[in-house]
Amino acid sequence: MEEFAAAGPVRAKRCGEAICSVDGCPRPVRVRRLELCYTHEHQRKRLGLRLPEFPGHPEAAPLPGFGRCRAGVCDRQAHGRRGLCRPRDVRWREQRRAGQVSGAGFGDWCRTAAPVASGHQVIFRGLAPRVQAEVLFGLRERCRHGALTSLCELRIFCRRLLTGNVSTIMSVEASQLARQQRRLIRDLQDAVSLAGISPGQEQRRDIWNTAVLGHGRRRVIDFTGISRHWLREAVRQWVAEELPTRRGDHATAILQDHVRRAEELSASLRLHRDDHGDDPCALGRADIIAFLARLKHREASGHISSWRRSATCRRLAMILRECRAPGLTRPGQPMARLPGDFAIRRDDIPQQPADDEPGRALPAGVLGQLIEALPALEQVSGLNIRAAAGLLMDTGRRPTEICKLGWDCLDQDSDGKHALICTDFKANKAGRRLPVTDETAKVVIGQQQRTRARYPDTPASELALFPGPPGTGRGSGPSWTASQLPITVPGSTRSRRCAWRTGASSTRPPCSSTPAGTASPSGTPTPAPQLTCSGTSWVTGP
Ligand SMILES: [Zn+2]
Ligand SMILES: [Zn+2]
Repeated sequence: MEEFAAAGPVRAKRCGEAICSVDGCPRPVRVRRLELCYTHEHQRKRLGLRLPEFPGHPEAAPLPGFGRCRAGVCDRQAHGRRGLCRPRDVRWREQRRAGQVSGAGFGDWCRTAAPVASGHQVIFRGLAPRVQAEVLFGLRERCRHGALTSLCELRIFCRRLLTGNVSTIMSVEASQLARQQRRLIRDLQDAVSLAGISPGQEQRRDIWNTAVLGHGRRRVIDFTGISRHWLREAVRQWVAEELPTRRGDHATAILQDHVRRAEELSASLRLHRDDHGDDPCALGRADIIAFLARLKHREASGHISSWRRSATCRRLAMILRECRAPGLTRPGQPMARLPGDFAIRRDDIPQQPADDEPGRALPAGVLGQLIEALPALEQVSGLNIRAAAGLLMDTGRRPTEICKLGWDCLDQDSDGKHALICTDFKANKAGRRLPVTDETAKVVIGQQQRTRARYPDTPASELALFPGPPGTGRGSGPSWTASQLPITVPGSTRSRRCAWRTGASSTRPPCSSTPAGTASPSGTPTPAPQLTCSGTSWVTGP
């Protein structure tokens, strides 16, 4: 950050204010077109001279200036005796007339007045040097990612920084701002936090920003809910080892969920033990039994579902097992001398009912309704969304995988059959070939044509099949497309993930690599409009 601030601007540029064209006259012009200050303009009119003739006239002598504008943030010349530049003087008079300010408050008004917007300038004057550097640095990082920044939003943000008199942009609470400004502010804050921190430093904290660790943007893993110090430390070390091995958009959320399971164990120890479970070597099987009993009680009293109880046991069993493997129970380590019987056995994990009952996959009737609703979807959300929905239904791929398809994802085999080239992010298999029907291929070709028409110059290798909205700079990279604009099938309830199981009326091709149907747990078709596409989101252009 210091280096960045020391480098300074590449070139100094002045715009917004024009000075009188009479040689040596420091006063600002009244109207840019006339190129003369108010007094000289008056003089020219009196002499009846044309504009180019006036500066050479013997009566055109320079006048004394009024000095710099008295407003703290302003670097313009004052245009009158009040000591304000023209735009600010106008603002002062307006506010005075409206009774918003009084003459006695003039000094304070000058100190706190917001900058005057002009041209393409954003005024940083009045901000702490560190804040200025942080904003500039954040903007540079944003540009590097191809995002466009609205001048107006940046000005609003700077004005807020000025009135809040902040010493760093990290102290601005993004959630209190208007929705359209949050993305800009969070991007700037992320850039600054990423610049100043190494992964090692981040992992020593109790709340991790996983962007520092190469996972997503604006995601955190919060360990503060684990109250037992030794357990928090052990889980933190386990997550530190686990996170690099995880892929996909949900890795952070999944590990945060594991941390939540450890919170429940921590809470159980704190509540039922006299020493609150602070000493790992005093623990044993009895504590595990107490924990399991507590879970059972919470399920019976309706606080948690049976699935959650089972998942908690399963995940904790795994965490405790895996924490032992890298030696966290050795002397000097967080779980030092933790007895071996402080573990969840296989028999301790309550069994869940089998998954393959009817209701897990979408029934044929529901699927029929979905297919019928496609024209309505097209009306509401456009052709791109319809194409994406069609692909989801035909291929059974995950929404993220469809969103991240490259523009040139369609290939033709020697026998004329089409194949979709996609990446299976869960299994980390890039370039997977998925046979598709000619109808699906037509959908892809249609989408290719629409995308190509929107981005005629982007190389095919950098273009996504479903690119982001124009102007965000996110239209070109396939990697950017999966995180915007939640699109819902007309009138829908949420389910965790959708996939379509081949039914009689399904158009899905016979294909072995599609995921098994995992519709909403209830799986029941609510009246026609209440169907869900996904809990994730897709992005396409408007
Ligand atoms: Zn002048
Ligand atoms: Zn001014």
